[in-house]
Amino acid sequence: MKKITMGIVGYGGMGSYHVRELIKNEEKFQLKGGFDILPQRQSALKEAGYLAYESYQALLDDPEIELILIATPNDTHKELAVTALNSKKHVLTEKPAMMNATELEEVLAIAEKNQREFFVHQNRRWDEDFRIISEIFNQQEIGAIFKIESRVHGANGIPGDWRHYKAQGGGMVLDWGVHLLDQMLFLVPGKIEKVQADLSYVLGNDVDDGFNTTLYFENGLTVLVEVGTSNYLKLPRWYLKGLKGTAEIIDWDLTGEMVQATGIDTAAPKPIQAGVGLTKTMAPPTEGAMRRLPLPKGEALPVSIYENIYEVIENKGQRIVKNEEVLRVLHLMEIIFEAGSRQEILPFE
Ligand code: NAD
Repeated sequence: MKKITMGIVGYGGMGSYHVRELIKNEEKFQLKGGFDILPQRQSALKEAGYLAYESYQALLDDPEIELILIATPNDTHKELAVTALNSKKHVLTEKPAMMNATELEEVLAIAEKNQREFFVHQNRRWDEDFRIISEIFNQQEIGAIFKIESRVHGANGIPGDWRHYKAQGGGMVLDWGVHLLDQMLFLVPGKIEKVQADLSYVLGNDVDDGFNTTLYFENGLTVLVEVGTSNYLKLPRWYLKGLKGTAEIIDWDLTGEMVQATGIDTAAPKPIQAGVGLTKTMAPPTEGAMRRLPLPKGEALPVSIYENIYEVIENKGQRIVKNEEVLRVLHLMEIIFEAGSRQEILPFE
Protein backbone atom coordinates (compact mmCIF):
# COMPACT_ATOMS: atom_id res chain seq x y z
CA MET A 1 0.00 0.00 0.00
CA LYS A 2 1.24 3.43 -0.92
CA LYS A 3 1.89 5.79 2.00
CA ILE A 4 1.61 9.57 1.82
CA THR A 5 4.71 11.27 3.22
CA MET A 6 3.95 14.37 5.27
CA GLY A 7 5.78 17.39 6.61
CA ILE A 8 4.51 19.69 9.34
CA VAL A 9 4.92 23.42 9.79
CA GLY A 10 4.30 24.59 13.37
CA TYR A 11 5.10 22.05 16.06
CA GLY A 12 3.28 23.65 19.01
CA GLY A 13 0.20 22.43 20.85
CA MET A 14 -1.90 21.26 17.91
CA GLY A 15 1.00 20.30 15.65
CA SER A 16 2.38 17.92 18.26
CA TYR A 17 -1.17 16.60 18.92
CA HIS A 18 -1.47 15.65 15.24
CA VAL A 19 1.87 13.86 15.42
CA ARG A 20 1.24 12.09 18.74
CA GLU A 21 -2.48 11.30 18.50
CA LEU A 22 -3.52 11.33 14.86
CA ILE A 23 -0.81 10.67 12.26
CA LYS A 24 0.76 7.87 14.35
CA ASN A 25 -2.46 5.87 14.08
CA GLU A 26 -2.85 6.38 10.35
CA GLU A 27 -1.19 3.52 8.48
CA LYS A 28 -1.48 5.29 5.13
CA PHE A 29 0.55 8.32 6.26
CA GLN A 30 4.10 8.80 7.45
CA LEU A 31 5.58 11.96 8.88
CA LYS A 32 9.12 12.70 7.74
CA GLY A 33 9.81 15.97 9.54
CA GLY A 34 8.87 19.57 9.97
CA PHE A 35 9.80 23.14 10.67
CA ASP A 36 9.01 25.52 13.54
CA ILE A 37 10.39 29.04 13.98
CA LEU A 38 11.18 28.32 17.64
CA PRO A 39 14.50 26.50 18.24
CA GLN A 40 13.04 24.59 21.20
CA ARG A 41 10.23 23.24 19.03
CA GLN A 42 12.80 22.23 16.38
CA SER A 43 14.58 20.29 19.15
CA ALA A 44 11.27 18.74 20.20
CA LEU A 45 10.74 17.53 16.62
CA LYS A 46 14.15 15.84 16.64
CA GLU A 47 13.56 14.33 20.09
CA ALA A 48 10.32 12.83 18.76
CA GLY A 49 12.37 11.13 16.01
CA TYR A 50 11.64 13.42 13.05
CA LEU A 51 13.75 15.61 10.79
CA ALA A 52 13.87 19.30 11.75
CA TYR A 53 14.37 21.13 8.44
CA GLU A 54 16.46 24.31 8.64
CA SER A 55 13.72 26.41 7.01
CA TYR A 56 10.20 26.10 5.64
CA GLN A 57 11.66 26.30 2.13
CA ALA A 58 13.97 23.35 2.92
CA LEU A 59 10.91 21.33 3.95
CA LEU A 60 9.11 22.27 0.72
CA ASP A 61 12.22 21.46 -1.33
CA ASP A 62 12.14 17.83 -0.14
CA PRO A 63 10.64 15.95 -3.11
CA GLU A 64 9.48 13.06 -0.88
CA ILE A 65 7.03 15.30 0.98
CA GLU A 66 3.60 15.23 -0.66
CA LEU A 67 1.38 16.76 2.02
CA ILE A 68 2.07 19.72 4.32
CA LEU A 69 0.19 20.09 7.59
CA ILE A 70 -0.09 23.73 8.71
CA ALA A 71 -0.46 24.08 12.50
CA THR A 72 0.69 27.65 13.09
CA PRO A 73 -1.18 30.76 14.36
CA ASN A 74 -4.16 31.73 12.23
CA ASP A 75 -2.66 34.76 10.45
CA THR A 76 0.13 32.63 8.95
CA HIS A 77 -2.05 29.96 7.30
CA LYS A 78 -2.50 31.81 4.02
CA GLU A 79 1.12 32.52 3.15
CA LEU A 80 2.28 29.07 4.27
CA ALA A 81 -0.50 27.42 2.22
CA VAL A 82 0.22 29.46 -0.90
CA THR A 83 3.95 28.67 -0.79
CA ALA A 84 3.26 24.97 -0.28
CA LEU A 85 0.71 24.77 -3.10
CA ASN A 86 3.04 26.63 -5.46
CA SER A 87 5.70 24.05 -4.49
CA LYS A 88 3.26 21.37 -5.73
CA LYS A 89 2.42 20.02 -2.27
CA HIS A 90 -1.06 19.12 -1.05
CA VAL A 91 -2.06 21.07 2.06
CA LEU A 92 -3.99 20.26 5.22
CA THR A 93 -4.45 23.33 7.39
CA GLU A 94 -5.70 23.74 10.89
CA LYS A 95 -8.89 25.72 11.45
CA PRO A 96 -9.80 28.46 10.87
CA ALA A 97 -8.75 27.76 7.30
CA MET A 98 -7.97 31.43 6.76
CA MET A 99 -8.62 34.81 8.40
CA ASN A 100 -11.55 35.50 6.07
CA ALA A 101 -13.42 34.23 3.02
CA THR A 102 -11.44 36.31 0.51
CA GLU A 103 -8.18 34.69 1.64
CA LEU A 104 -9.69 31.24 1.22
CA GLU A 105 -10.98 32.02 -2.27
CA GLU A 106 -7.48 33.11 -3.29
CA VAL A 107 -5.91 29.95 -1.84
CA LEU A 108 -8.46 27.66 -3.52
CA ALA A 109 -7.70 29.30 -6.86
CA ILE A 110 -3.97 28.67 -6.31
CA ALA A 111 -4.66 25.03 -5.36
CA GLU A 112 -6.64 24.58 -8.56
CA LYS A 113 -3.96 26.24 -10.69
CA ASN A 114 -1.34 23.87 -9.23
CA GLN A 115 -3.70 20.87 -9.34
CA ARG A 116 -3.13 20.18 -5.68
CA GLU A 117 -5.64 19.41 -2.93
CA PHE A 118 -6.38 21.78 -0.06
CA PHE A 119 -8.01 20.42 3.14
CA VAL A 120 -9.14 21.96 6.42
CA HIS A 121 -9.07 20.15 9.76
CA GLN A 122 -12.70 20.59 10.85
CA ASN A 123 -12.27 17.72 13.28
CA ARG A 124 -15.29 18.43 15.47
CA ARG A 125 -17.61 16.91 12.89
CA TRP A 126 -16.27 13.63 14.32
CA ASP A 127 -17.03 14.46 17.99
CA GLU A 128 -19.23 11.88 19.68
CA ASP A 129 -21.51 14.48 21.31
CA PHE A 130 -22.10 16.01 17.88
CA ARG A 131 -22.78 12.58 16.34
CA ILE A 132 -25.42 11.94 19.04
CA ILE A 133 -27.04 15.31 18.36
CA SER A 134 -27.05 14.53 14.63
CA GLU A 135 -28.82 11.24 15.39
CA ILE A 136 -31.48 12.98 17.51
CA PHE A 137 -31.91 15.63 14.82
CA ASN A 138 -32.36 13.08 12.04
CA GLN A 139 -34.44 10.46 13.92
CA GLN A 140 -36.85 13.07 15.34
CA GLU A 141 -37.79 10.92 18.36
CA ILE A 142 -38.60 14.21 20.08
CA GLY A 143 -40.47 15.48 17.02
CA ALA A 144 -39.30 18.05 14.54
CA ILE A 145 -36.51 20.10 16.12
CA PHE A 146 -37.22 23.83 16.13
CA LYS A 147 -34.44 25.10 18.42
CA ILE A 148 -30.83 23.99 18.92
CA GLU A 149 -28.51 25.52 21.48
CA SER A 150 -24.81 24.70 21.26
CA ARG A 151 -22.47 26.08 23.89
CA VAL A 152 -18.95 25.74 25.16
CA HIS A 153 -18.16 27.48 28.43
CA GLY A 154 -14.86 27.84 30.24
CA ALA A 155 -13.57 30.09 33.02
CA ASN A 156 -9.93 30.48 31.99
CA GLY A 157 -10.20 33.53 29.74
CA ILE A 158 -8.35 33.56 26.42
CA PRO A 159 -5.15 31.45 26.54
CA GLY A 160 -2.09 33.66 27.06
CA ASP A 161 -0.65 33.36 23.56
CA TRP A 162 -1.25 34.73 20.05
CA ARG A 163 -4.99 34.15 20.60
CA HIS A 164 -5.01 37.56 22.40
CA TYR A 165 -4.15 39.55 19.27
CA LYS A 166 -6.46 40.58 16.45
CA ALA A 167 -3.62 40.72 13.91
CA GLN A 168 -2.80 37.07 14.62
CA GLY A 169 -6.39 35.91 14.26
CA GLY A 170 -7.14 35.75 17.97
CA GLY A 171 -10.52 35.79 19.69
CA MET A 172 -13.19 33.18 20.24
CA VAL A 173 -15.18 33.53 17.01
CA LEU A 174 -12.08 32.41 15.12
CA ASP A 175 -11.25 29.82 17.75
CA TRP A 176 -14.12 27.72 19.14
CA GLY A 177 -16.64 29.63 17.00
CA VAL A 178 -15.33 28.01 13.82
CA HIS A 179 -15.91 24.54 15.25
CA LEU A 180 -19.43 25.16 16.54
CA LEU A 181 -20.57 27.00 13.42
CA ASP A 182 -19.09 24.31 11.17
CA GLN A 183 -21.04 21.66 13.10
CA MET A 184 -24.29 23.63 12.76
CA LEU A 185 -23.96 24.27 9.03
CA PHE A 186 -23.04 20.62 8.49
CA LEU A 187 -26.10 19.49 10.48
CA VAL A 188 -28.93 21.82 9.50
CA PRO A 189 -29.96 21.89 5.85
CA GLY A 190 -31.11 25.01 4.07
CA LYS A 191 -30.32 28.67 4.01
CA ILE A 192 -29.79 31.01 6.93
CA GLU A 193 -31.99 34.06 6.48
CA LYS A 194 -30.82 36.31 9.33
CA VAL A 195 -28.02 36.51 11.87
CA GLN A 196 -27.96 38.22 15.27
CA ALA A 197 -24.74 38.41 17.31
CA ASP A 198 -23.28 39.75 20.54
CA LEU A 199 -19.55 39.73 21.03
CA SER A 200 -18.06 39.92 24.52
CA TYR A 201 -15.04 42.03 25.45
CA VAL A 202 -15.44 41.88 29.23
CA LEU A 203 -11.91 40.61 29.84
CA GLY A 204 -10.34 43.71 28.28
CA ASN A 205 -8.62 42.16 25.25
CA ASP A 206 -8.73 43.67 21.76
CA VAL A 207 -10.34 40.45 20.55
CA ASP A 208 -13.63 38.88 21.58
CA ASP A 209 -13.42 36.69 24.68
CA GLY A 210 -16.72 35.05 23.76
CA PHE A 211 -19.86 35.56 21.75
CA ASN A 212 -23.35 34.38 21.14
CA THR A 213 -25.10 34.31 17.83
CA THR A 214 -28.59 33.35 16.74
CA LEU A 215 -28.99 31.92 13.25
CA TYR A 216 -32.48 32.05 11.77
CA PHE A 217 -32.84 29.32 9.14
CA GLU A 218 -35.40 29.78 6.38
CA ASN A 219 -37.07 26.48 7.40
CA GLY A 220 -38.06 28.11 10.72
CA LEU A 221 -35.36 26.45 12.83
CA THR A 222 -33.43 28.71 15.18
CA VAL A 223 -29.90 27.96 16.34
CA LEU A 224 -28.03 29.57 19.21
CA VAL A 225 -24.25 29.21 19.30
CA GLU A 226 -22.40 30.51 22.33
CA VAL A 227 -18.77 30.53 23.45
CA GLY A 228 -17.80 31.90 26.86
CA THR A 229 -14.45 32.08 28.64
CA SER A 230 -15.61 33.60 31.92
CA ASN A 231 -18.30 31.07 32.85
CA TYR A 232 -17.49 29.60 36.26
CA LEU A 233 -20.70 27.61 35.99
CA LYS A 234 -21.43 26.05 32.62
CA LEU A 235 -24.70 25.74 30.78
CA PRO A 236 -25.31 22.40 28.96
CA ARG A 237 -23.14 21.68 25.91
CA TRP A 238 -26.31 20.94 23.88
CA TYR A 239 -30.02 21.69 24.41
CA LEU A 240 -32.56 20.69 21.75
CA LYS A 241 -36.25 21.45 21.66
CA GLY A 242 -38.53 19.36 19.46
CA LEU A 243 -42.28 19.54 19.03
CA LYS A 244 -42.58 16.33 21.11
CA GLY A 245 -39.77 16.53 23.60
CA THR A 246 -36.47 17.93 24.77
CA ALA A 247 -32.89 16.60 24.76
CA GLU A 248 -29.72 17.74 26.40
CA ILE A 249 -26.08 16.73 26.61
CA ILE A 250 -24.45 18.25 29.63
CA ASP A 251 -20.79 17.91 28.79
CA TRP A 252 -18.17 16.03 26.80
CA ASP A 253 -18.58 13.07 29.15
CA LEU A 254 -21.88 12.56 27.26
CA THR A 255 -24.14 12.72 30.29
CA GLY A 256 -27.61 13.80 29.29
CA GLU A 257 -31.07 12.54 28.43
CA MET A 258 -34.10 12.91 26.24
CA VAL A 259 -37.62 13.45 27.46
CA GLN A 260 -40.37 12.50 25.06
CA ALA A 261 -44.04 13.48 25.23
CA THR A 262 -46.24 10.34 25.37
CA GLY A 263 -49.38 12.06 24.11
CA ILE A 264 -51.37 10.51 26.99
CA ASP A 265 -52.28 11.92 30.39
CA THR A 266 -52.12 15.40 28.97
CA ALA A 267 -54.44 16.88 31.61
CA ALA A 268 -53.02 20.14 32.87
CA PRO A 269 -50.77 19.45 35.85
CA LYS A 270 -51.77 20.70 39.25
CA PRO A 271 -50.55 24.17 40.16
CA ILE A 272 -47.34 24.28 42.13
CA GLN A 273 -45.98 26.87 44.51
CA ALA A 274 -43.39 28.99 42.67
CA GLY A 275 -41.69 31.67 44.72
CA VAL A 276 -44.44 33.72 46.28
CA GLY A 277 -47.07 32.60 43.79
CA LEU A 278 -48.72 29.63 42.10
CA THR A 279 -48.18 28.34 38.55
CA LYS A 280 -49.81 25.72 36.35
CA THR A 281 -47.87 26.80 33.28
CA MET A 282 -44.47 26.02 34.76
CA ALA A 283 -45.47 22.92 36.76
CA PRO A 284 -43.59 19.78 35.55
CA PRO A 285 -45.60 17.50 33.22
CA THR A 286 -47.25 14.55 34.97
CA GLU A 287 -45.23 11.29 34.96
CA GLY A 288 -47.68 9.76 32.46
CA ALA A 289 -47.32 12.63 30.01
CA MET A 290 -43.62 12.05 29.37
CA ARG A 291 -41.05 9.29 29.18
CA ARG A 292 -37.34 9.55 29.83
CA LEU A 293 -35.09 7.99 27.21
CA PRO A 294 -31.35 7.44 27.17
CA LEU A 295 -29.41 9.33 24.54
CA PRO A 296 -29.05 7.37 21.28
CA LYS A 297 -25.69 6.19 20.00
CA GLY A 298 -24.13 8.65 17.59
CA GLU A 299 -23.48 7.09 14.22
CA ALA A 300 -19.77 7.50 13.50
CA LEU A 301 -18.58 9.07 10.27
CA PRO A 302 -17.36 6.26 7.97
CA VAL A 303 -13.65 7.14 8.01
CA SER A 304 -11.22 9.38 9.89
CA ILE A 305 -10.34 12.78 8.44
CA TYR A 306 -6.91 11.44 7.41
CA GLU A 307 -8.41 8.36 5.70
CA ASN A 308 -10.73 10.70 3.83
CA ILE A 309 -7.79 12.88 2.77
CA TYR A 310 -6.03 9.74 1.46
CA GLU A 311 -9.12 8.75 -0.54
CA VAL A 312 -9.35 12.21 -2.11
CA ILE A 313 -5.65 12.43 -3.02
CA GLU A 314 -5.16 8.84 -4.20
CA ASN A 315 -8.57 7.80 -5.51
CA LYS A 316 -10.39 11.08 -6.20
CA GLY A 317 -12.87 10.14 -3.45
CA GLN A 318 -15.59 12.42 -2.05
CA ARG A 319 -14.56 14.88 0.64
CA ILE A 320 -16.21 14.83 4.06
CA VAL A 321 -15.16 18.45 4.71
CA LYS A 322 -15.93 20.29 1.49
CA ASN A 323 -14.13 23.56 0.81
CA GLU A 324 -17.37 25.30 -0.15
CA GLU A 325 -18.70 24.43 3.33
CA VAL A 326 -15.56 25.90 4.92
CA LEU A 327 -16.03 29.02 2.81
CA ARG A 328 -19.66 29.36 3.94
CA VAL A 329 -18.57 29.26 7.59
CA LEU A 330 -15.98 32.00 6.95
CA HIS A 331 -18.68 34.14 5.31
CA LEU A 332 -20.95 33.53 8.29
CA MET A 333 -18.20 34.57 10.71
CA GLU A 334 -17.82 37.84 8.83
CA ILE A 335 -21.57 38.51 9.22
CA ILE A 336 -21.33 37.63 12.93
CA PHE A 337 -18.58 40.25 13.42
CA GLU A 338 -20.63 42.82 11.50
CA ALA A 339 -23.94 42.04 13.24
CA GLY A 340 -22.12 42.22 16.59
CA SER A 341 -20.47 45.57 15.94
CA ARG A 342 -23.61 47.15 14.39
CA GLN A 343 -25.92 45.54 16.96
CA GLU A 344 -28.34 44.71 14.18
CA ILE A 345 -29.92 41.54 12.85
CA LEU A 346 -28.45 41.16 9.36
CA PRO A 347 -29.61 39.16 6.33
CA PHE A 348 -27.24 36.36 5.30
CA GLU A 349 -28.21 34.07 2.40
P1 NAD B 1 0.73 27.08 19.40
O1 NAD B 1 1.10 28.48 19.71
O2 NAD B 1 0.72 26.08 20.50
O3 NAD B 1 1.69 26.50 18.25
C1 NAD B 1 1.99 27.22 17.09
C2 NAD B 1 3.42 26.86 16.66
O4 NAD B 1 3.66 27.46 15.40
C3 NAD B 1 4.47 27.41 17.63
O5 NAD B 1 5.36 26.37 18.00
C4 NAD B 1 5.17 28.50 16.82
O6 NAD B 1 6.53 28.66 17.14
C5 NAD B 1 4.98 27.99 15.39
N1 NAD B 1 5.04 29.02 14.37
C6 NAD B 1 4.48 30.26 14.36
N2 NAD B 1 4.70 30.88 13.18
C7 NAD B 1 5.39 30.00 12.43
C8 NAD B 1 5.90 30.07 11.11
N3 NAD B 1 5.72 31.15 10.32
N4 NAD B 1 6.59 29.00 10.64
C9 NAD B 1 6.79 27.92 11.42
N5 NAD B 1 6.33 27.80 12.67
C10 NAD B 1 5.63 28.84 13.17
O7 NAD B 1 -0.69 27.15 18.72
P2 NAD B 1 -1.70 25.93 18.55
O8 NAD B 1 -2.64 25.91 19.69
O9 NAD B 1 -0.96 24.70 18.22
O10 NAD B 1 -2.55 26.42 17.29
C11 NAD B 1 -2.05 26.24 15.98
C12 NAD B 1 -3.22 26.14 15.00
O11 NAD B 1 -4.01 25.01 15.35
C13 NAD B 1 -4.17 27.34 15.05
O12 NAD B 1 -4.62 27.64 13.75
C14 NAD B 1 -5.32 26.87 15.91
O13 NAD B 1 -6.54 27.51 15.63
C15 NAD B 1 -5.37 25.40 15.55
N6 NAD B 1 -5.95 24.53 16.58
C16 NAD B 1 -6.89 23.63 16.20
C17 NAD B 1 -7.47 22.80 17.12
C18 NAD B 1 -8.49 21.80 16.66
O14 NAD B 1 -9.15 21.17 17.47
N7 NAD B 1 -8.64 21.60 15.36
C19 NAD B 1 -7.10 22.87 18.48
C20 NAD B 1 -6.12 23.79 18.84
C21 NAD B 1 -5.54 24.62 17.88
